[in-house]
Amino acid sequence: MKIAVCIKQVPGKFKIEIDPQSGALTKSGTDSMINPFDQNALEEALRLKEKHGGKVSAVSMGPAQAAESLREAIALGADEAILLSDPAFEGSDTWATAHVLSLGMKKLGPPDLIICGRQSLDGETGQVGPELAEMLGLPFVSSVSRIEEVGEGSMRMQRMAEEGHHVVEMQLPGAISVVKEINVPRLPSLRGLMQAKKAAITVWNGQELGADPARVGSQGSPLRTVRVTQPQRSAQREMLQGSPESQVDEVVEKLRQSRIL
Ligand SMILES: Cc1cc2nc3c(=O)[nH]c(=O)nc-3n(C[C@H](O)[C@H](O)[C@H](O)COP(=O)(O)OP(=O)(O)OC[C@H]3O[C@@H](n4cnc5c(N)ncnc54)[C@H](O)[C@@H]3O)c2cc1C
Repeated sequence: MKIAVCIKQVPGKFKIEIDPQSGALTKSGTDSMINPFDQNALEEALRLKEKHGGKVSAVSMGPAQAAESLREAIALGADEAILLSDPAFEGSDTWATAHVLSLGMKKLGPPDLIICGRQSLDGETGQVGPELAEMLGLPFVSSVSRIEEVGEGSMRMQRMAEEGHHVVEMQLPGAISVVKEINVPRLPSLRGLMQAKKAAITVWNGQELGADPARVGSQGSPLRTVRVTQPQRSAQREMLQGSPESQVDEVVEKLRQSRIL
């Protein structure tokens, strides 16, 4: 079974440092790590390979430093790692990201199964997996919490739903996204770590992927982030006076003013 796992490198924990001049605590820089859901995706791919044989390819679109996460994927057991990287990809929204990943999958030779995480830790849209499947013309099952059976050309699995589980069968080739309940990711072995140190990470740029510059990066992104805000955590308390109706009106107005409504 040929399995491709989509791996996104995301910021890890903040480094807490002390400013030597002011003595104040500062949060500067971030470590990077494999997106947590993608760790589950990789673990599931490795388990399928152990059971059914085959090959696991880890694929990431990102800057040069995303190679670190791919090296980690090799340490955990991936057979190969491919980084799709080009300055032209910068500013890609989920659509352009999925487009680049689809070109990578085509160049790789279409896998039997593509596994993504349900969502990323930072962007959190959960859009890349389904968009990628659509672009490749593959069926897609989201929020998979258990793979029950892999048969000849099909796969049966459970997907998490609000009210319980759905058991669904999907034709292969296909694509899925997984939730963290599907497994507990393994730790890298010493042998894996040694292998990862020496492993060559394949890098494909836009030209090698045959990417049309108009379809990647900010140029190829139909979505534009207009504003990013951080939650205000300052605690404020105010007792409202008057009738219940006037208090409700006042609350609505305050929420409007603070842009919550
Ligand atoms: C206008 C705009 C500009 C942006 N500019 C930048 C930028 O310059 N640099 C930047 O880093 N981000 C940028 N982003 C964010 C970037 O588009 C998203 O991080 C990316 O498209 C993935 O979306 P997501 O994080 O919501 O992933 P989700 O859709 O939540 O991820 C679901 C799953 O898809 C897979 N996946 C997602 N992204 C990747 C990836 N890159 N490689 C492999 N697998 C992946 C993983 O398996 C993941 O678990 C921008 C976003 C917008 C809207």
